[in-house]
Amino acid sequence: MTGKEFIAKFEEFAPMELAEAGDPVGLQIGTLDKPIKKILVTLDIRPEVVEEAIEKGVDLIFAHHPIMFRAAKNLITDNPQNKMYADLLKHNIAVYGAHTNLDVATNGLNDWLGQAIGIKNTEIMHITNQTGYKKLAVYVPKSDEEKVRVALTKAGAGKIGPNYENCSYTLEGTGRFTPINGAMPTIGTLNQTEEVEEARIEVIFPEHKTAKIERALFESHPYEEPGYDLYTIENFVDAYGLGRVGDLPEPISVNDFSEKVKAIFQLEGLRLVTTDPSKMIQRVAICGGDAGKYYPSALKKQADVYITGDVYYHTAHDMLADGLTVIDPGHHIESICKEGLADLFTQWKVSESWEIEIIQSNLNTDPYRFK
Ligand SMILES: [Zn+2]
Repeated sequence: MTGKEFIAKFEEFAPMELAEAGDPVGLQIGTLDKPIKKILVTLDIRPEVVEEAIEKGVDLIFAHHPIMFRAAKNLITDNPQNKMYADLLKHNIAVYGAHTNLDVATNGLNDWLGQAIGIKNTEIMHITNQTGYKKLAVYVPKSDEEKVRVALTKAGAGKIGPNYENCSYTLEGTGRFTPINGAMPTIGTLNQTEEVEEARIEVIFPEHKTAKIERALFESHPYEEPGYDLYTIENFVDAYGLGRVGDLPEPISVNDFSEKVKAIFQLEGLRLVTTDPSKMIQRVAICGGDAGKYYPSALKKQADVYITGDVYYHTAHDMLADGLTVIDPGHHIESICKEGLADLFTQWKVSESWEIEIIQSNLNTDPYRFK
């Protein structure tokens, strides 16, 4: 498997265009144009993680936090950050970062966080992107119906909701055409009207896949000029966004829930922003990383408690004033991305028959300690 194949599969799952503007996602060091046998997944890339990668002989580091968040001004390797870049290049280790596109992806990092704390009936807390749908109707000789239909679904058409794929509809009928001028018809003769038993295949797909679907159509269709229609669908929208909100199975006090959060994420401590730790709560919003500024979205979704990291002092005052209880477990809870990514890549390893080894970094990159 090459790096390009692997990342093409990943970007189907978490397209780069879902990332926030200015977020440096994607390949940052090395090349994907090489075979990949070992992948190391990590939250952060620090010098000790690079050492781990070199020691384990990995070809690709897959990180949630981009390695180059700020551009380097020079490449003097006395600087530890620069030395990391040099070591990675020297050992031909590529580095790919999936940041806010992994946060918002359906069944991505924020869903993993929601599952970890056990919320149900989960919905998006703060919508950042909406993708419309299109419908393709294409006319194809009956003999080629299956070939074209399979090509379309392979290119990503025919997914309805999270649980159904390969959805399509076929009608049979008669197609008519007269090839003229310099036509080179697959079926029929110049200047003679032809009648062909044809099928009309209908499929829907997210509009950002239009170019890919059209390419699959042209590559699989036997005609010189395939007849097809594209429609805009009004009743399907895919929403993506930051944070998840849902309900705990039963009410619990803020105090007890804080203890649970500590246990779930194996924390030495956390910061609690509340006027009443004995208050009973049930509806919980969670957003990985540093997402204090999105607390109004948690309120709008009627969350009793909002879990996010790096909450700023004055924001905490505003949260209290607005009657929201907040748990700041630290930014490092995002390290559950290692398990989530490793599970995902292991599923693909099986479904795509890839000969790869997936390793989760076993280093703790949390810079904070409690005293
Ligand atoms: Zn983060």
